[in-house]
Amino acid sequence: MRRPVPHAHHSQPSSVVMNPVFVRPGEASEFPTFQLPAGESLPETARQIVHDEAMLDGNARLNLATFVGTWMEDEANRLYLEAADKNLVDKDEYPHTAAIEERCWRMVADLWNAPDPARAIGTSTIGSSEAAMLGGLALKRRWQHARRATGKPVDRPNLVMSSAVQVCWEKFCNYFEVEARYVPISDEHPVLDGHDLASYIDEFTIGVVAIMGVTYTGMYEPVTAIAAALDDVQAATGLDVQIHVDGASGAMIAPFLQPDLEWDFRVARVASINTSGHKYGLVYPGLGWVVWRDTDALPEDLVFRVSYLGGEMPTLALNFSRPGAQVLLQYYQFLRLGRDGYTRVQGACRDVAMYLSSRIGAMDAFELWNDGSDIPVFAWRQRAGHTSNWTLHHLSDRLRARGWLVPAYPMPDNLSDITVQRVVVRNGLSRDLAELFLKDLQAEVSYLDSLTSPMPEPPATSSFRH
Ligand SMILES: *Cc1c(COP(=O)(O)O)cnc(C)c1O
Repeated sequence: MRRPVPHAHHSQPSSVVMNPVFVRPGEASEFPTFQLPAGESLPETARQIVHDEAMLDGNARLNLATFVGTWMEDEANRLYLEAADKNLVDKDEYPHTAAIEERCWRMVADLWNAPDPARAIGTSTIGSSEAAMLGGLALKRRWQHARRATGKPVDRPNLVMSSAVQVCWEKFCNYFEVEARYVPISDEHPVLDGHDLASYIDEFTIGVVAIMGVTYTGMYEPVTAIAAALDDVQAATGLDVQIHVDGASGAMIAPFLQPDLEWDFRVARVASINTSGHKYGLVYPGLGWVVWRDTDALPEDLVFRVSYLGGEMPTLALNFSRPGAQVLLQYYQFLRLGRDGYTRVQGACRDVAMYLSSRIGAMDAFELWNDGSDIPVFAWRQRAGHTSNWTLHHLSDRLRARGWLVPAYPMPDNLSDITVQRVVVRNGLSRDLAELFLKDLQAEVSYLDSLTSPMPEPPATSSFRH
């Protein structure tokens, strides 16, 4: 007997009915949504169904919410197709892909000013989340080794970070049983800046996370100020606490747009850094990088040795099989753009972000939170007293109807009574497209401002997750 279709999906139809134009005689014309179809179908039919369903997704170019790359050149697209079958973990079968992976993380280590590139160690990952797990695990394991060496207990480890961290750090703490200690942001301290940091640190602290490009707003956390606060902690207590920099977006911006800003391995307390190759690394989704300053920062017992071509290859990963193509695409971008090209592309994004923020900040309805001069991301809130007829959630909803995805969401603790709206400028949001967005934004604000009574609550807000 066939199992009943689960209820949880009642928002979806129970079957997909084919357009008769595409159906061949004798072929099924209806496919169950939640059960494997009984028989086969022709490749054209299967493709048509998947294509038509996926077509209903949003238009990535109008998505001002995501950080993730949605466009690459044709040459990269061709490489992607050629490499779609490569499994990164098969170092034996694909030794050159493995070698290219190493070239890439070494280039990244150099970009982040690793003091001794020969001693740096890193790996690709599926994204910044996996990279953060590995960075966090290294901090935890290192702390455990140091504690055990002096006969101290290793229960109750904690990690200190801003309340505005990306959800991957909550996951790390949950999955790997580390207490998350959140330093709340406030009007005076809108990012983690070392203020009052000492009161969160104790002998059970495995490390501090500093964010280069806070997801909520795009602002940088001042890594040198955080390091200075930790220097004071060490002077007072002897505790030597390391920093992991979550540079998911900013670690591929700062080296090009703010080369003099010290946030990377130039800061002695920075043990490790992650970034998303698929954000400002300019590669399609499925790629992250994590690099440790030197092999001391990465406990040896976290590294596995796999044999390849008679040799040995160290690996550190949560996954086993993983697409190799994205690594090749990152190498393509590094060769294609070089430092100059990345500087030009990221600079163009910043110009568009600062232009948009200046125009939005000049509107009566809004007050800028930040202007997009760190990473090309900025947020704004409704100006106090502007109106009680509509909120940024209504505006987000109206923009969505025009195809633009511009999320509105509450800030994290202790500012959760403040709602902001955010734009992420990515490669592909041209000045022209930005003008069209501004026009639509202004039109929707005029409409909302013309209302003489409050809008009803907007429908459940977007499923946006930081
Ligand atoms: C996007 C982001 C992440 C998660 O990165 P993924 O590559 O999507 O896994 C982590 N931290 C910050 C600050 C981010 O912006």
